[in-house]
Amino acid sequence: HTFCRKLPKIELHAHLNGSLSKSTMLHLKRYFADSGFEDKSNIFFDEFQIGAGDSRNLSDCFQVFSIAHSLTSTPEALEMATQMTLEEFNDDGCCYVELRSTPRDTPYMTKHQYIDTIVKSMQKINARLSIISRFVVSVNRSHHVSEAEAITNLAIEYNKKYPDIVVGLELSGEPTIGRFEDFVPSFVRAKECGLKISLHCGEICNSEEVISMLNFKPDRIGHGTCIHPSHGGTEDTWATLCKIKTPVEICLTSNVNTKSTPKYASHHFKEFYNAEIPVLICTDDKGVFETSLSQEYGICAETFDLDRTKLARLALNACQHIFAEDNVKRKLMTQILNFIDHHC
Ligand code: 5GP
Repeated sequence: HTFCRKLPKIELHAHLNGSLSKSTMLHLKRYFADSGFEDKSNIFFDEFQIGAGDSRNLSDCFQVFSIAHSLTSTPEALEMATQMTLEEFNDDGCCYVELRSTPRDTPYMTKHQYIDTIVKSMQKINARLSIISRFVVSVNRSHHVSEAEAITNLAIEYNKKYPDIVVGLELSGEPTIGRFEDFVPSFVRAKECGLKISLHCGEICNSEEVISMLNFKPDRIGHGTCIHPSHGGTEDTWATLCKIKTPVEICLTSNVNTKSTPKYASHHFKEFYNAEIPVLICTDDKGVFETSLSQEYGICAETFDLDRTKLARLALNACQHIFAEDNVKRKLMTQILNFIDHHC
């Protein structure tokens, strides 16, 4: 446990509003109570968390984000949420974090202000703490395509203005809603403008979509649950992934608690790792799933019997797939190699 906490780790798949801890949410509730905005006293953290054996299905799980959304509806609250979440990743021994979030219009701010607030919050954290943070803008596949286009425009605009903060565009949201092909023009445009791309891929069985996503050549994919034939994929989806070796953001506890995977021991991490597909250990929604990146590394080590060197190598390999500039990559690799020299 101490080793996993001390290991300098790279977080590449964390949704801001799913990452709010209980203490951050209590802090935000207090802020709303003190500032005279709407009453938030009916918001409870227990409903937000999805533990092991929770009776809710994957679709129900998507409802919990509205609880966090009601607490991040003003620029001040969003700034507190961003900073407190990054502080927690820093305290957990993460040296680099890519936070992702879907810009929203709220009664108190526009999408433009939403992005702006996160960018400014990250700049403050990067100046104050040793952790390096970057922002990956999210497109929600259950929203209208025109919304995706507007968000893509903002991501491109902010990447031009703040290339050292806004680094990518990603597709998430309920996988049973919306069609990837409708969002392709937005993602092509973002790619052409130099943004890195990550796509939630194969969270539910949909081999056709998995193939078109992989053929799009995203820089990374999220989850990849239903790609291997023994997990609901086909020979074709698996062969395609093995051929192009797209790095996969792996979220062990998220997959188990939403019942996408029956138990840790049968998680597709094993097949991917053995096939030498780059695997990136991530938290997904550390608030919702009551986890941390060091906990995910610990679960991974225990379940798949990885020794310290193998575990540290996972963090080291993750550096290759960050969306930030090469000098950041080199700095992180040096830091992790140095740790390996002393602790493995
Ligand atoms: P936000 O973008 O509001 O900061 O973070 C919450 C959002 O992230 C959710 O509304 C949802 O769109 C997305 N999200 C969080 N966890 C998951 C997940 O496991 N799968 C998918 N597809 N989307 C997720």
